[in-house]
Amino acid sequence: MKSWYCLLSALALTATALGSAQLQAQEKVLNLYSARHYQTDEALYDGFTRQTGIVVKRIEGKEDELLERIRNEGANSPADVLLTVDAARLAAAHEMGLLTPVKSSILEARIPVHLRTADWFSFSLRARVIIYTKGVVKPEEVRNYSDLADPRLKGKVCSRSGSHPYNLSLMASIIAHQGEAKAEQWAKGVVTNFARPPKGGDTDQIRAVAAGECAVAVSNTYYLARLMRSDKPEDRKTMEKVGVVWPDQQGHGAHINVSGGGVLKNAPHREAAVKFLEYLSSDEAQRYFADGNNEWPVVAGVKIANPALEALGRFKADSLPVGSLAMYRAKAQIVFDRAGYR
Ligand code: FE
Repeated sequence: MKSWYCLLSALALTATALGSAQLQAQEKVLNLYSARHYQTDEALYDGFTRQTGIVVKRIEGKEDELLERIRNEGANSPADVLLTVDAARLAAAHEMGLLTPVKSSILEARIPVHLRTADWFSFSLRARVIIYTKGVVKPEEVRNYSDLADPRLKGKVCSRSGSHPYNLSLMASIIAHQGEAKAEQWAKGVVTNFARPPKGGDTDQIRAVAAGECAVAVSNTYYLARLMRSDKPEDRKTMEKVGVVWPDQQGHGAHINVSGGGVLKNAPHREAAVKFLEYLSSDEAQRYFADGNNEWPVVAGVKIANPALEALGRFKADSLPVGSLAMYRAKAQIVFDRAGYR
C-alpha cells in the first residue's frame, strides 16, 4: 500500500516537472484561430483529423480582434495556427511579431514563391474583378481598373469603403505598379464617378449593379460565384443581370488577394501546426477551398469541380508578390484619404 502511494506521488511529481506546456504538447490537438467565416471550412478540419488523428480546436473571431487577442495572450497563448483573409492582415500579424518562420520542403514545393513569405503562406486565391450592368455598360468600356476613373462613367460607379482591406490591397497593387501619384489620380477619378458614397460589402455592390443603382463596381470573385451557385432563384437572377470582366488582361493581370496563415510564435503544438499548414497545401484541402468557398487553389494542377469557377473562366492573374501588397498598405490608406475615397 505504502509503496503504491510512493509510486503515485513520484508519478505526480514527474508530471509536474514535465510541466503543463509539455503535457499539452503531447496531446493530439491543434488550436486554430481562424478569421475565415466560411461554413464549408469544416471539411478542411475534418480532413486533417482523419489523416493525422489531431483534433482541431477552433476559435473564430473577427480578423483584427483575433490579432489583438493573440497579442494580449502573449507567451501563454494557446494559439497554434492563425488563418485569416487578405494579404495585408497576414502582414499585420507578421509585423506584430505574432508569427514564427516555418521551413518546410512541402510548403516550398507546393506554394509558388510569390504567394508565400518566411512566416506566412497563401492557401487560396480570390480575384478582384470589375462588374457591370449588362445592357447599360459595354464590357469593352471597363477592360481595366483605370477605366473606373474615366469621366464617361461619371455617376455610375459603386464601391465599398476605401478603408476596407480588399480595396486597400487593390490600391497597394496599383501603387506598386504605377507609383503613388498616378494611384492618387486614379482614386480621385473614381471618387468623381461615384453614384453614391461608399457603403456595404461586395455583395451589396453586386446587388446594386444588378438593380441599376449604379452600372459598375468591383467585387471579389467568390461573392459572385456564391450568388451563381445559390439555392435562391433571386440570387441567380441577380447574376444574370451582371457582367464580369477580368481587368488588365493586356497589362499586369487581375488583382489577386489571398487567404492564408502561419504558425504562431508561442504555439504549444508547433509540430502539429506545421503539419496543418502542409495539409492545407495538399490536393484534398486545395479542392475544399475551391469547391467549398469558390476560391482558386494556390497549388498548380489541382483538379477542381466548381461550375461557378468554371463559368468565370480562365484569366491572367497579377503575379505581384503578396509581400508587396502588405508593404504598400499604409500608403494605400493615405492615398485613399487624400482622394476623399472614404
Ligand atoms: Fe470576404
